[in-house]
Amino acid sequence: MTIPKIFTYLLDLFFPNNCICCSQPLVDGESYLCLRCLYELPRTNLHLIADNEVEQRFWGKIPVEKATSFFYYSKNSPFKRILYQIKYHGYKEAGYVLGKYAAADLKKSHFFEGIDLIIPVPLHKKKQHKRGYNQSEWIAKGLSEISGIPYDSFSVSRIVNNPTQTQKATFERHLNTDGIFRLNPSHHLENKHILLVDDVLTTGATIEACARAIQEAANTRISVFTLAVVH
Ligand SMILES: [Zn+2]
Repeated sequence: MTIPKIFTYLLDLFFPNNCICCSQPLVDGESYLCLRCLYELPRTNLHLIADNEVEQRFWGKIPVEKATSFFYYSKNSPFKRILYQIKYHGYKEAGYVLGKYAAADLKKSHFFEGIDLIIPVPLHKKKQHKRGYNQSEWIAKGLSEISGIPYDSFSVSRIVNNPTQTQKATFERHLNTDGIFRLNPSHHLENKHILLVDDVLTTGATIEACARAIQEAANTRISVFTLAVVH
């Protein structure tokens, strides 16, 4: 590798030049996602709808003040790639950028009103160490940046690691039981309205378990934001 090539390689590493969704080269002003993908992103706009389908997923499980997701994805959706890139391929900053895009939409409505604190669903420390970051924390940072609401990644810990794929079905059936997440004894979550943030919403069981841990702090209220929701 010649020196200029190394330089280009390093630049690509820190400033990727291709869209993380469609792989087309990015132009000036585009960041991680090209304008076409950003335009075609199937935004849910559910924050504009009371009793929306994301809120309904939590009905009968945990009390949720409001809930929304930024975009829809399905098994064969090209937009699913965005989530893989953020979660498994190191594009944590893309989570931050998409969090900012989502927050810009939410800010046009009353969604952020009354929310005191943003908490990303934590990873188990072993998993976070292996991945090097928590993708939900980067999404939360983006939301925080635009909304001006602080984020807190210290008050809740995940004390049980993710199961393997084969254990997952059984695991999710039993996730309602407490003990997956734990409140840090020095938390200050009492009387706060918390926006719980995750990358994707599937069964909602993980968010539900995390919310239950948060509810151990007195007089808390929970709202939910996920970057994507299975449609
Ligand atoms: Zn694209």
